[in-house]
Amino acid sequence: MADDATVTEEGLHGDDGLGPPDKSPRSANEATGPARAELSNYAIVNHYFDIATERLELREDIAAVLRSSYREVQVQIPIRLGDGRTHVFSGFRVQHNGARGPYKGGIRFHPEVDLDEVRALATLMTWKTAIVGVPFGGAKGGVNIPAGDLSQAELQKVARSFMDKIEKVLGPNRDIPAPDVNTNAQTMAWLMDEYGKLHGHTPACVTGKPIALEGSYGREAATGRGLIDVYREAAPALGLKPEDTRFVVQGFGNVGSWAARILQDIGGTLVGVSDATGAIRADSGIDADALHAHLAAGDPLGDFAGVDAIDADELLDIECEVFIPAALGGMLNQGNADRLRCRVVLEGANSPTTPAADEILTDRGVVVVPDVLANAGGVVVSYFEWVQNLQHFRWEEDAVNGQLRKIMRTAYREVSSRAEADGVPLRVAAYELGIERVVEASRTRGYIA
Ligand code: NAD
Repeated sequence: MADDATVTEEGLHGDDGLGPPDKSPRSANEATGPARAELSNYAIVNHYFDIATERLELREDIAAVLRSSYREVQVQIPIRLGDGRTHVFSGFRVQHNGARGPYKGGIRFHPEVDLDEVRALATLMTWKTAIVGVPFGGAKGGVNIPAGDLSQAELQKVARSFMDKIEKVLGPNRDIPAPDVNTNAQTMAWLMDEYGKLHGHTPACVTGKPIALEGSYGREAATGRGLIDVYREAAPALGLKPEDTRFVVQGFGNVGSWAARILQDIGGTLVGVSDATGAIRADSGIDADALHAHLAAGDPLGDFAGVDAIDADELLDIECEVFIPAALGGMLNQGNADRLRCRVVLEGANSPTTPAADEILTDRGVVVVPDVLANAGGVVVSYFEWVQNLQHFRWEEDAVNGQLRKIMRTAYREVSSRAEADGVPLRVAAYELGIERVVEASRTRGYIA
């Protein structure tokens, strides 16, 4: 078991007022995005965990168990690339906590992936699955490849090689991967196929698969749809109307583009967008469907017609009701949080808000709907996909979306009523709820006294 305490300690005494300067490597994305995190994502996650466990008066020995990972695997992935040379990448799978069920979490292909990052994301999954009440534990995986520079054939080699090296700790009753940044249904198909070569056809070994390979209707859109389900539930109490909402999306990939298309469908107006290449704005509205088609055709964001190209950090200055961070961690931080001109931050990305930014936003009265609640729609429909695969039965898309809405609504109500009763932000209430459920499962199993 890793000595997580060292990382946590380091992470809580730096220049965010809360932790040290983040020494984790940064990619070229930084050049086009707003200033990135002062803290590593792992320090961010543990900061929120510590606030909740203190409020819950959780015993330190129990907190120590919940803070550390059950298993951390790092493997070598040597791949011969187009330049004729063999490049050695690293693959990671972290299984954080399995008290509530098999480990569950996405696989990310990104040059910034390292053990610290994957550990943070795995930890978030533990709380997320507990908050929405699906019977999984938390895990995450990743490979530190520059996915955008690799061909489809090279990405396939990476996916298969990664599966070959971690398959022993995976399986439908052990640990079930899903897509994340720079991975998609195609990646899941390669992973399922490779797992099947070793274990026989096992569709429930990964979720987020293509429809043609026992994927679930509604899975691709699920994280974005779940975000909007939560917003629809939150809006009335804030005096906001979903059908009358101006919104900005930072990161227009799976999560950001689906959230944009769905909120636009119910009447919202997209007024600003960024991706890894730049940013655009249009106060009269950006057609989210047309933009999605434009990017899917391989055309750059900046060439989209009828909008103004802006610097990536100017995205933060756009007046709107809802700001949706849907790119990478730590993008809303001490250096830029006071620039946001929105009423609500709806966290599509994992760990997009550093603790310092969270405090600034809360002090300014901006409601932050936290990642562990807001972006849980993906894992909820992954749960539906897993159930369908185990039963060899397919649900209609309306049934998937209806069940998703019910779960997201219930989770929001449980978190918001707790937040209101205790006078704490939604994030604190969400962590408390998630931690309590994991503690209860651990106690009942006899893992902790
Ligand atoms: P994706 O790869 O489909 O999209 C990522 C987007 O972010 C792309 O548009 C990319 O260009 C953009 N981006 C990268 N660097 C950027 C920068 N510096 N500035 C602005 N944009 C930048 O990934 P995704 O699956 O949509 O995941 C996005 C976030 O949502 C991640 O934090 C992920 O962990 C989280 N998330 C994803 C899921 C899911 O089901 N896919 C579920 C829960 C949470």
